[in-house]
Formats: sequence, structure tokens, C-alpha cells
Amino acid sequence: MRYYSLNNPKQTTSFKEAVVQGIAPDRGLYVPERISKLTDSFFQNIDELSQHEIAFQAIHQFVQEDIPDSTLKEILEKVLDFEFPVIPIEENISTLELFHGPTMAFKDVGARFMANCLGHFSQDRSSEVTVLVATSGDTGGAVANGFLGVEGVRVVILYPSGKVSEIQEKQLTTLGQNIVAMEVDGTFDDCQRMVKTAFLDAELKENRKLTSANSINVARWLPQLFYFLFAYKTLKSKSNEIVFSVPSGNFGNICAGMVAQKLGMPVNHFLASTNVNDVVPKFMKKGEYIPQPSVATISNAMDVGDPSNFVRIQHLYGNDFENLQENLSSYSFTDEETKEAILHVYENFGYVADPHGAVGYLGLKKYQQKHPNTHGVFLETAHPVKFLDVVKETLNIEIDIPPQIEQVLGKTKQSIKICAYEQLKTFLLDS
Ligand SMILES: *Cc1c(COP(=O)(O)O)cnc(C)c1O
Repeated sequence: MRYYSLNNPKQTTSFKEAVVQGIAPDRGLYVPERISKLTDSFFQNIDELSQHEIAFQAIHQFVQEDIPDSTLKEILEKVLDFEFPVIPIEENISTLELFHGPTMAFKDVGARFMANCLGHFSQDRSSEVTVLVATSGDTGGAVANGFLGVEGVRVVILYPSGKVSEIQEKQLTTLGQNIVAMEVDGTFDDCQRMVKTAFLDAELKENRKLTSANSINVARWLPQLFYFLFAYKTLKSKSNEIVFSVPSGNFGNICAGMVAQKLGMPVNHFLASTNVNDVVPKFMKKGEYIPQPSVATISNAMDVGDPSNFVRIQHLYGNDFENLQENLSSYSFTDEETKEAILHVYENFGYVADPHGAVGYLGLKKYQQKHPNTHGVFLETAHPVKFLDVVKETLNIEIDIPPQIEQVLGKTKQSIKICAYEQLKTFLLDS
């Protein structure tokens, strides 16, 4: 498969180069040149296929020239070694739990897949690749865990000091080996600015191979399409009108779901559910895309004022607003509404949702008022324990700490404190 930059469809590159570069030299996002449908029998017989077989068939066309089939199978076995259960909540609502991986956030699959691809590609490279990533919370832990021990790859994670939860900080500062955590005296925006500056720094470019590990990287973005196929496998016998509600921030996850639709998966509609960072809900109403500064909320992994993957979504529907409207609706909800939903779902159905999942649930309820015959799935993107304070305060219950989390809490934090870009640069050049 060839990939091209959305800024220049004429210039194409390989999967390998797209992964190693992260973003195109013209700063555009890479997209696959085409998406070929899977066979009808794949979808008819999907219940007979294992997770690994589904994933292999779905991702094969996107990587085949650059990763041999046997290696791809090995990678998928390493990446998908946990479950993605679909839990019934109401008569016509289920949740797809994506938090059973090592860091209990859905980003584990993308981070692990990208780490393994990059590990494979750096085997034949003389110099090491450095993955540079800024995190406001969940991305850092998933990336640190996914890349731990991958040879030929070094990971440098920047996070804002005092602004991530204790669990999140432990997940990204206690691993050691090829993972370095930089604790920035500043905000998430400051971290992001430093990362962007590094990517544009000519001296660094000459001396180091730098890449990014956020959802603009095709190897982190595309494997998320597996989730939608796994849910379809479980739900296809229940309804022929399936809708997905995806709690969205940078819109990478939902965009991957739309790729699954392009592969031929029968799905009626997508719902992009957001918190008050509502650039896309507003766009879907008025057709005008106006980026905003991000606003802090209790579903903080979605506090994004200018979602980077939305251009990919528009591209998938031919940049045609009406076509997009037929496939996508988008609603935003306040923190107050989110807490009420957490309480409602717990009191009525005995299910503990995290703030992101609760936003997804709200989106479904709103859509189903007008489309009562659909079966809705909302994605649970994080385990409630990762948002312990909010969930405890809202429900007044204790939550058991799962073993993955318990284990990191006992470890010692190791970080390098920095306050200016020059310190990052010196570190990258000298070490
Ligand atoms: C990253 C994240 C999201 C948002 O996903 P996007 O692909 O950026 O839209 C939602 N929930 C959680 C818990 C996350 O970590």
C-alpha cells in the first residue's frame, strides 16, 4: 500500500516511511491511497474467525509490502493478547470495553502495534530511532508500555509536572530501560510546543531520527479499526442496524471505525460524542470548522480544541458535507451531564462507567430518541479506576485496584525535570 499526504496527493510513500516519519515532510497527515473492501463472506462468517484472524485480514492490505505475513501474524499475537468484551447494558445498548490491556486505556493496541512495526523497521537501520511524545495523561503510559524493551527505539515522553494523575505518572516514569520521562515545568501545551519545535529543528533532524507516537502516525491509528470488527462479530446477530458511539478527542479512534466501514463492515451510523470541547459537534451543525483553545474537563483525554484526525474523516467521505452527515452525528455534553450519566448507568444497570464512556453513553441516548430501532454500542475507552476521584465522588463507592495498576503504584518514579526547550535538545543530542 502506498500512502500520500493530505497536502499533496501526488507524492506517495511506503507504509514503512509513513511510520518512520510520522507526519509527511509537508506537515500533512498520511492516508492510504485506497481502501479495498473485504469479501462479503468475511463479514458473513466473522463469528467463526478468531481475533487474530480478523485483525490479520483487516490490516493486511495496509502493510503487506513492508511486513512479511509471518511477521505480521507474530506482531498481532503480541499486540492482541487480551480481551475486548461486549457487555449488554440496556435492551438496545451495549458497551465495548477497550481497557483490558496493560495500561487499561484503549491506546494500548495502537501503541503496541506501532512499537512492533518500528522495531521491525529499525532492525536494518544503522542508527536508533527516537520516539518523542507529549502527553496529558493516557498516551504516555500506553506508549511507554508498548515500546518497553523494543530494540533500536528510544522513547522520550514529556508530561506536565503535577498535571497528570498519580496512576498516570507512575505508568510513564517507572519503566526505565529505553523509556525516558521528562517532567516539564509547564502545561500540556508547553510540552506539545517543545515536541513540535524539536521536529522542526534542523540540527536535530541532521543528527537524530525522530518520530512521533500520537494518532497522526498511521501505525497507531489504523489498528484501532480492529475494535469495531470485534464488536460487530459479537453483535451482528442482535441487530442489522448497529451504531457506534465513540468518545472522541483527536478523532483517531472514530476515524479508524470509519475505515472498518470502508472495508465493508455493515454499520448504520457513527456518533462522535465529545465533552464541551465541541468543535466537531458545531461543525456538523453549521458546516464551519472553528478551532478553539481546549477547555479542561473530567473526561480529560478528550480535551482537544483542534482534533488532528478530523481532516482524515472528511477525506474518507470525499470532503462532501452531506455524505458525512449521513454517516456521522456529533453531540457534546457537560461535566454535570457526564456525572449524571455515570450515576444513572450505575443505579439502573449496575455498571461503573468512566467519564469518557459516560459521554459515549449520552451520545447514544440522544441519537436513539430519534432512531429507537438501532442497537447502539458505546466504547469504554478507559477503566474507571484511572479516573478514580471523579467516579468515587459521583458514586460514593470504593473501586478495586486491578493488578496492572497495583503493580506500578509500588514502583519508584524516575524523571528528568526540564523547563526549557534547550534542555530537551541537549538531552536528545548528547545521549
Ligand atoms: C485518547 C482517549 C480518547 C480519545 O480518543 P481519540 O482517538 O483521540 O478521539 C478517549 N478516551 C480515552 C480514555 C483516551 O485515552
